[in-house]
Amino acid sequence: MAVPHAQTILVAEDETAIADTVLYALRSEGFAAEHVLLGGDVVPRVRTGKVDLVVLDVGLPDITGFDVCRQLRTFSDLPVIFLTARDGEIDRVVGLELGADDYVVKPFSPRELVARVRARLRRRVQASNADWQALGRFEIDREGRRIRFSGQALDLTRYEYGLLEVLLQRPGAVLSRAQLMDRVWTDALDSGDRTVDTHIKTLRAKLREVGDSVDDTIRTHRGLGYSVDVGVA
Ligand code: CA
Repeated sequence: MAVPHAQTILVAEDETAIADTVLYALRSEGFAAEHVLLGGDVVPRVRTGKVDLVVLDVGLPDITGFDVCRQLRTFSDLPVIFLTARDGEIDRVVGLELGADDYVVKPFSPRELVARVRARLRRRVQASNADWQALGRFEIDREGRRIRFSGQALDLTRYEYGLLEVLLQRPGAVLSRAQLMDRVWTDALDSGDRTVDTHIKTLRAKLREVGDSVDDTIRTHRGLGYSVDVGVA
């Protein structure tokens, strides 16, 4: 049974004996652990809910763990620990061009894996405290030009980031299209009125993708402009 507020670990592993051992070890240490058999199930699961870390087998039957990790990295900086079997796999993981945070070689001790999971999560908390400012459901790292919404990284274009960053400077304040143009499109020569609207639209679509079901996080004020409602974390 899941402990309230337990951190959720998603385990992608097609060998059920290994998966069972890992799930048991994680749960007995107080984690909420979930299991998927296929690589293709990882991204949809991460997108639909709270996952704090992914334990990812490299040799999955449909797509490789490498490909799953690459897909994850297009929208998320979630910690990933690879489970790897063969020497060739280890070489590629060690190269770390894939954005994995750590790896464990099979056969491994479940206790060691749990220790790695803990270490990863702890480091993440430390890093996030240093860089991220929380604003309701949003978190912003201005230095790194990154924004999270409901705990998930938003994959934003430069102007989408700029718009949201400016709106998040004063949550609730209404900014006109002209003000937004001035502050965000500082280097653009000719952009019409529709430019702001177009980017607000794509921004809303991206918020919706990560769970903004009501679609009023970015509010339209007719004849006035836009504001952001950061909500409650
Ligand atoms: Ca496997």
